[in-house]
Amino acid sequence: MAHDFFDTPIEFLKGVGPKKAETLQKELNIFTYGGFIRHYPFRYVDRSKFYKANEITEDIPYVQVRGIIGNVQVLGEKRAQRLTALFKDSTGTIELVWFKGTKWVRDSIKPGTEYIIFGKPNLFNGKINIVHPEIEPVIKDGITNPDQQLGNLSTLFPVYNTSERMKAGFLDSKTIAKLQKTLISIMPPIIPEVLPENIVQDLKLMSGLEALINIHNPTSDKALKNAEFRLKFEELFFLQMELLKIKVNRKEQNKGQIFAKIGDFFNNFYTTKLPFELTNAQKKVLKEIRVDMGSGKQMNRLLQGDVGSGKTLVALMSMLIALDNGYQACMMAPTELLVTQHFNTISKMLEGLGIKIEILTGSSKTKKRRAILEQLLSGEIHIVVGTHALIEESVQFKNLGLVVIDEQHRFGVEQRSKLWNKSAIFPHVLVMTATPIPRTLAMTVYGDLDTSIIDELPPGRTPVTTVHRFDSNRLRVFGFMKEQILLGRQIYIVYPLIDESETLDYKDLMDGFESISRAFPMPEFQVSIVHGRMKADVRDYEMQRFVKGETHIMVATTVIEVGVDIPNASVMVIESAERFGLSQLHQLRGRVGRGAKQSYCILMSSFKLSSDAKTRIETMVRTTDGFEIAEIDMQLRGPGDIAGTAQSGILNLRLADIGKDAEILKLARVTAIKILEEDPHLQAPINKCLLDIYNARKRVKTNWSRVS
Ligand code: ADP
Ligand code: MG
Repeated sequence: MAHDFFDTPIEFLKGVGPKKAETLQKELNIFTYGGFIRHYPFRYVDRSKFYKANEITEDIPYVQVRGIIGNVQVLGEKRAQRLTALFKDSTGTIELVWFKGTKWVRDSIKPGTEYIIFGKPNLFNGKINIVHPEIEPVIKDGITNPDQQLGNLSTLFPVYNTSERMKAGFLDSKTIAKLQKTLISIMPPIIPEVLPENIVQDLKLMSGLEALINIHNPTSDKALKNAEFRLKFEELFFLQMELLKIKVNRKEQNKGQIFAKIGDFFNNFYTTKLPFELTNAQKKVLKEIRVDMGSGKQMNRLLQGDVGSGKTLVALMSMLIALDNGYQACMMAPTELLVTQHFNTISKMLEGLGIKIEILTGSSKTKKRRAILEQLLSGEIHIVVGTHALIEESVQFKNLGLVVIDEQHRFGVEQRSKLWNKSAIFPHVLVMTATPIPRTLAMTVYGDLDTSIIDELPPGRTPVTTVHRFDSNRLRVFGFMKEQILLGRQIYIVYPLIDESETLDYKDLMDGFESISRAFPMPEFQVSIVHGRMKADVRDYEMQRFVKGETHIMVATTVIEVGVDIPNASVMVIESAERFGLSQLHQLRGRVGRGAKQSYCILMSSFKLSSDAKTRIETMVRTTDGFEIAEIDMQLRGPGDIAGTAQSGILNLRLADIGKDAEILKLARVTAIKILEEDPHLQAPINKCLLDIYNARKRVKTNWSRVS
């Protein structure tokens, strides 16, 4: 019955009615009591605290003062009319301003009586004022205003998000607070828990009902904390259940080929070809992959590791296991350049092992392409490396056993699944990403995948030295570049190109190229340039000149961001570094420091830096740890801007914040994992509440995290 209660249309709540209901629907997507009760305050104000007029600064978000109102005046012409009044206490005065409802305010203010004023202070013409304050007389109808008698209630007052249109429709924060009180007062005394009872007990959570009451009207600071904890947990828990259920279902439904043995391909490579010892992180991850590929279930694993951590090698060895078990493998990357590079690396590493490797891209010649398609079908080709071209229907395998996808977020889930369908039993899937994302975010964005992390770089690398230089120091930077070139090194200079259509950015790039060419004249110096508006063949030619070491400097846009591996390039100069995001800066820096030589990253910027830009640059100078950088990036940008978040459901979270509530998230995930391990189909009576929600969700296709 409680469910019926929460399904009640919001217009039936006393004080709402059809007009306000429409506003709530349009502005907040609230239709029912249930939707309304989950419109939580975004902050609380301590109404027990009164400021003195002379203590108020514009930095204080909300203030409450007590004193006399006088000097009420109407100013300005008809349409641009405003009402001002002067608030006064023993320490000073503050101007109060109204632009709307001026008549009503003027009629209701009784000059010379005592009021309590509440609102947000602004600095205007060097003086503090409050626009549209809430005002209440201390004495109302001859008695002390009951709203002021806080009694044993908490003094924390909820503040709700409202829009201009809501305020115009008489739905300001105060009204919403009142309506929430009304709703709570008619709520049934017992509401079934949405969480299993044992979870509520074991984790000592506040009950759902109490939490809803306390989130709107906290009885104490502690009760508010508990209510927040409970509701955040609930949100994150349902999100995790949803993701993990996808994983469980997929594991049950998707059988996987069993790669039981390690054979000659792998062993020969390991003993005769591998030029170095694997890092412990690589060994650990390979073991995880082996377990997956031997389990009889389809592997869906995300491999995270910073640039240069040796993911490609892990992928390669995983492919060899597929080959050892009689299967083919393919590797997909987002650009021709990367594909070519992977192809070259892999071919070189596997030379002499009797493995046939091919490359397939959009620009593969028809005749060659036809031959490749035939040989994939006959099984003659063991490994194919390619772009999106691999997804096409015409590409068929004899028995595809493993798909490796590099730089994952460039490929959508749908594209990936087209690859899976290329064999009767889904092939195992290993997704590699060089963009470290914070662990908490990985739990949600990739919460339905298994994840492996390579958190260790191969030994013998000298960390890249990063410095920040202002544009005015360019000549000295040029001097340093010359020194490096004389030592036999190569240099990247990257210009921002945020948007391909940004003509101004191209102009910067071309101007830069010109001044570099002047400062580094031929024939002593050779400079190449690469950008997105060049024809592909010209670009490849320029790129190749640099790869072969024929040119000393590569002037480029971020087209070189991903994956390019030229060990001799040891200096990365980033122009207008303030315009790049943190993760992009980190990716770019990853292009150098690939050999054993000392490498440098020089961040150029103007003097004018926003505080975020300053943080980004300082972070880059301070650390090379990709996970730490990712964490700071998330804090600067919020999780919303990070690839994949839209589908992950974290944008639907009302209370929880992936960045700030990492501990609750971990608890929610561990709890959900434990439940699904013990009871994957939610058949136990204690989990019936979860099953109900799950089924209801499947019926109406709402998000679990939104269930009330
Ligand atoms: P990623 O794909 O993670 O960016 P790569 O697999 O391309 O990294 O490896 C970067 C470089 O480090 C390559 O030149 C590779 O041969 C080398 N490498 C990989 N693993 C090791 C290791 N365990 N020890 C030494 N060098 C390694
Ligand atoms: Mg790589």
